[in-house]
Amino acid sequence: MTSLRNVVVLGATGSIGVSTLDVIARHPDRFRVLALTAHRQIDRLFDQIIAFVPRFAVVDEAPAARQLAERLERAGSATVVMHGAKSLEAVAAHADADTVMAAIVGIAGLRPALAAVTAGKQVLLANKEALVTAGPLFMEAVRRCGATLIPIDSEHNAIFQSLPAGYGGDLEAAGVRRILLTASGGPFREWPLEKLADVTPEQACAHPNWVMGRKISVDSATMMNKGLEIIEASWLFNAAEHRIEVVIHPESVIHSLVEYVDGSVIAQLGNPDMRTPIAHALGFPQRIDAGVSYLDLVKTGRLNFLAPDERRFPCLRLAREALRAGGCASALLNAANEVAVAAFLNLQMRFDQIPQLLEGVLASIGNMPLRDLADVFEADARARQSATRWLSQHATSGPAAPSRLTA
Ligand code: NDP
Repeated sequence: MTSLRNVVVLGATGSIGVSTLDVIARHPDRFRVLALTAHRQIDRLFDQIIAFVPRFAVVDEAPAARQLAERLERAGSATVVMHGAKSLEAVAAHADADTVMAAIVGIAGLRPALAAVTAGKQVLLANKEALVTAGPLFMEAVRRCGATLIPIDSEHNAIFQSLPAGYGGDLEAAGVRRILLTASGGPFREWPLEKLADVTPEQACAHPNWVMGRKISVDSATMMNKGLEIIEASWLFNAAEHRIEVVIHPESVIHSLVEYVDGSVIAQLGNPDMRTPIAHALGFPQRIDAGVSYLDLVKTGRLNFLAPDERRFPCLRLAREALRAGGCASALLNAANEVAVAAFLNLQMRFDQIPQLLEGVLASIGNMPLRDLADVFEADARARQSATRWLSQHATSGPAAPSRLTA
């Protein structure tokens, strides 16, 4: 007999949120949805509430909450609709919550994820930005509050699975030499460098192997995603930057590897479908069906590996530099990147200007100390201001659909 676990899905309407609910729907005997949260996609949230009958739902603003509550009442639903950042934290830390899926995108996900950690929950962490911006504070809270942290990012989930069970944060003691993060290389791995100026948002979001939200898709195309993952892995597994290697593996079948001092390399493989790490984390330590098709190695045929090219992908270097610098360097990088990606998606600047903006912001601010959460948000705000200034001075709109340029 397994007991029913109450799950909160932060960011339910996003790519990870939808995959999480897909897995949950396969196991009505194991999981009950306690709360769902959304930002803009209220219609999708309404459908999810009708299907999963949560006790609470959270949206961004009061008018949207009122309208949703009225619609739900007409549909006979008893779900309580709340709004605002504090409500996200409240459901994440709710006394009846057992498991919290932290799948809000960007630094907006930091406070609710931290609230779940501080309440000692089992936290399934997709929101890598929480660790990138506030890694030492977040991990200290995990230890202090007795939370269970399971990574959802496919690479980190693979490393989690490839490390010894009960890994306690000491690579040396575990006999680990290196962590190898695999990367697909994104859609532009083989494009001529000069063509990167012409990349459109649609091309950047068309990832060869994974279906994901737009922000992380652009991050994959610049390889900033892998840079953020290096930082994430460093905090999650207490690994120094030089212990984390990146290997381009275009097929996305090996999700990451751990190399041991005796020469053994342990990897986790599977079809590229986020429901696998989600099901692994939801069921942990048991294994549960994810609805994923099984890997056919013969059909897969060849697996290829290449070294990353930092000239093509300067974001990788910038992320390593930020990790080595410590303090708030990673929070500055993350905020500048959030502004840059949004500007690119809004056709306000070219794809190849994303790393230029990041370099400009980092050079203009330098580093800042990281002592508490206030420092993180101060760094975030300063980087956003600097990035906005950079945009007004340097940005050149992309070639695609200039009529869609926003102000
Ligand atoms: P999506 O953009 O698809 O979804 C993001 C979710 O967050 C949505 O539910 C969205 O609401 C909500 N949201 C957005 N902004 C806010 C805000 N300011 N306040 C509250 N909620 C907000 O992203 P993904 O699902 O792709 O990614 C989620 C996280 O998981 C990211 O940190 C990403 O890096 C990470 N991740 C994603 C992977 C993937 O395969 N997609 C793989 C590994 C990690 P709404 O849609 O209603 O506007």
